[in-house]
Amino acid sequence: MIYDVVVVGAGPVGCKTAELITKKGFKVLVLEEHPEVGAPVQCSGLVSHRIFKLSGASKDVIVNRVKGASFYCKENCVELKSKKTVYVIDREKFDKEMAEKSENSGAKIKTSTKFENYKKIKNYLDVKTNKGNFQTKILIGCDGPNSTVARAAKIKLPDNVLTGIQVTAEYNFDPDKVELWFGSKICPDFFGWVIPENEKFARVGLASSKKVAERFDNFIKIRLKGKIKFKNKLAGPIRYGLIENSISDNVILVGDAACHIKPFSGGGIIYSLIGAKFAAEACVKSLEEENYSSEFFKENYDNVWKNKLAWPIKKGLFMKNSIHSFSDWQLSLLFSMINVTKIKKLLEFTDMDLL
Ligand SMILES: Cc1cc2nc3c(=O)[nH]c(=O)nc-3n(C[C@H](O)[C@H](O)[C@H](O)COP(=O)(O)OP(=O)(O)OC[C@H]3O[C@@H](n4cnc5c(N)ncnc54)[C@H](O)[C@@H]3O)c2cc1C
Repeated sequence: MIYDVVVVGAGPVGCKTAELITKKGFKVLVLEEHPEVGAPVQCSGLVSHRIFKLSGASKDVIVNRVKGASFYCKENCVELKSKKTVYVIDREKFDKEMAEKSENSGAKIKTSTKFENYKKIKNYLDVKTNKGNFQTKILIGCDGPNSTVARAAKIKLPDNVLTGIQVTAEYNFDPDKVELWFGSKICPDFFGWVIPENEKFARVGLASSKKVAERFDNFIKIRLKGKIKFKNKLAGPIRYGLIENSISDNVILVGDAACHIKPFSGGGIIYSLIGAKFAAEACVKSLEEENYSSEFFKENYDNVWKNKLAWPIKKGLFMKNSIHSFSDWQLSLLFSMINVTKIKKLLEFTDMDLL
């Protein structure tokens, strides 16, 4: 049997893409290397109001609602209120809901099945996994920032990679406010974060391209004043930048595999779900027209998602590079100036997804 689509990765993006294609009457198989969908979690779960419309997930995944963010550099702090609610979600529950929706629409998910490689045979692909081979007309790589599908299709990924480390810490927190900690003493190329689940627990983490463990330990000591009581330690890569090309013959990449990530914050769920919608539309058209060529996917997928996301990704890159080019005193000065000028109001109106 030849599947219409094989999706690699049962993360939220793989499941959403599979759900949308299956709903149009096509046969979709999703391969997941882990024995269980949603575990291990590699995410802080901070998302904008767009999450529910894009994913179709229920409000049961909400852990907390935050109303604003505080940006710290040395002793200076800017507090920005958010115009729209920002959600802290339970990523494991969210992923499991997405997988259930995908299965309910008719997609088949095979866990403990690791994609290894593929070979082109006539107009379809022979996909090799640790559990045998599967045949498909289209292969979709939703297999995260170190995509094996990208490697197999010889698609070059951007070189920018951060590693994030996070724990759920027990301390006293403001449940309404996310904290972002900048500066050379904390993290010269990204930031440390505190994402409250409630007054008692928060997801405290840091990402950097270098010395991550050392910087994380230092941040924890500074922010939690040495009182470290935590659970759920996690770590994972964040690859960012505008990918030159996200397609090949019979193959497309979506989500983290295609760097559908906000470079300024490392958040990827919203851009990835937008990517999933475009990916599903392109695949449905490709199956209807029986055209699986790279030219077809360039025009109907790569160009289409870039039309929506290339500019926000470029804006995010510019913001990330600008903020980290400031010295500590320049950044502190900027924060104190924002507090006393109209820039603060302007920033409060900025869309956190830059869309
Ligand atoms: C520390 C950290 C914190 C983050 N915090 C946030 C946040 O607060 N908000 C936000 O929006 N984003 C955040 N992100 C990014 C977010 O986690 C991703 O953007 C999101 O998970 C992308 O979904 P995805 O489905 O593309 O990839 P993933 O969720 O990574 O799913 C990929 C799936 O593919 C599977 N897979 C990989 N290789 C294979 C293979 N060879 N065969 C079979 N299966 C395979 C994996 O097991 C996994 O299940 C964070 C990331 C990190 C690392």
